[in-house]
Amino acid sequence: MKFNTKVIHGGQQHEPHTGSVNVPVFLTSTFAQKSPGQLKAGYEYSRGANPTRQALEDALASIENGARGLAFGSGLAAIDCVLKLLSPGDEVIAVDDLYGGTYRMFTRLFDKYQIKFSFVNFDEVDTIKDVITDKTKLIWLETPTNPLMKLVDIKAVTDLVKGKNILVAVDNTFATPYIQRPIDLGADIVMHSATKYLGGHSDVVAGALVAKTPELGEQLHFIQFASGGILGPHDSYLVLRGIKTLSLRMQRHSENGVKVAEFLENHPAIDKVFYPGSKNHPQYELAKKQMAEFGGMVSFTFKSGKKEDAIKFLEKLKVFTLAESLGGVESLANHPALMTHASIPADKRAELGITDDLVRLSAGIEDIEDLIADLEQALK
Ligand SMILES: *Cc1c(COP(=O)(O)O)cnc(C)c1O
Repeated sequence: MKFNTKVIHGGQQHEPHTGSVNVPVFLTSTFAQKSPGQLKAGYEYSRGANPTRQALEDALASIENGARGLAFGSGLAAIDCVLKLLSPGDEVIAVDDLYGGTYRMFTRLFDKYQIKFSFVNFDEVDTIKDVITDKTKLIWLETPTNPLMKLVDIKAVTDLVKGKNILVAVDNTFATPYIQRPIDLGADIVMHSATKYLGGHSDVVAGALVAKTPELGEQLHFIQFASGGILGPHDSYLVLRGIKTLSLRMQRHSENGVKVAEFLENHPAIDKVFYPGSKNHPQYELAKKQMAEFGGMVSFTFKSGKKEDAIKFLEKLKVFTLAESLGGVESLANHPALMTHASIPADKRAELGITDDLVRLSAGIEDIEDLIADLEQALK
């Protein structure tokens, strides 16, 4: 099956008893047994598996070309599951421009279990050779990064660690498998905040993992089962429903993203625009190689460099909603320093380039004329 067919049919079967075309929402915690320990259809207790979640997990594995999918109560619960593969003394190398919540989990939660984190700029993949030690067990990538839209060459990283006992995990939230498929590029684990583009309608908080191999999938499932951060059946249904229109939505998000970036680049009040589909992006060539399209996330700064200008602009928006999150059908705007990335210390933010005049936009799927007009009036 090709991708656009997979988002509709991947891992999906009609319900066998009634022929229901859609997977029912199985609101049940437990399943009747024939005899003690003898299950009717493999289901025992919904923390271990639930048919609605199973359908979503099969769909996730299908669209990311992995062996096994797992659905969690949030994106962070999915990351937490991956980190629990590690033991005290292990080392993790992570990309330096990380989602704020991931950074917070690494530095404030897992750091105290004696797991060591190095945050590294992956612009020149070769330089990470100097950071790898015999204790390195996991490389954590995000590409494009949030909010500066930096890219990591996934294939170059997986080639570099080939034959070493190091897992490569990619947070694929911003790109989605419509745009890039990390497992095809050699990654071991793909992670999503399904809250964003996979769900796609800003109506659910959910997370996902896809493992390249059945063995790794089994290890991760054991942790999910033993720690319990599963996604409920109703939310599983919402994400599954969202995935069905992923291709169509990503096409429009990308079209609008390109046009929003173009508009901002030509506006006299704007200084820098961060968008992988812009010819001015320092990794434009990598973007063309690694990504099928460029997505709907665009960040920018003001010529004035003033925080007050960013705030005034955000207050004036009418079609874009000022809110955390991204990847829904509606356009959103965010101030990383005060909102999504406030959990990163100010000096660290400054070092990374997350300045106080940085604004991050999530271009929705509305008519582009209305989005541009809204940006125009708010900039005025
Ligand atoms: C939102 C987000 C997360 C966290 O996911 P939640 O569903 O909010 O727990 C992780 N990574 C990225 C890139 C995100 O945008």
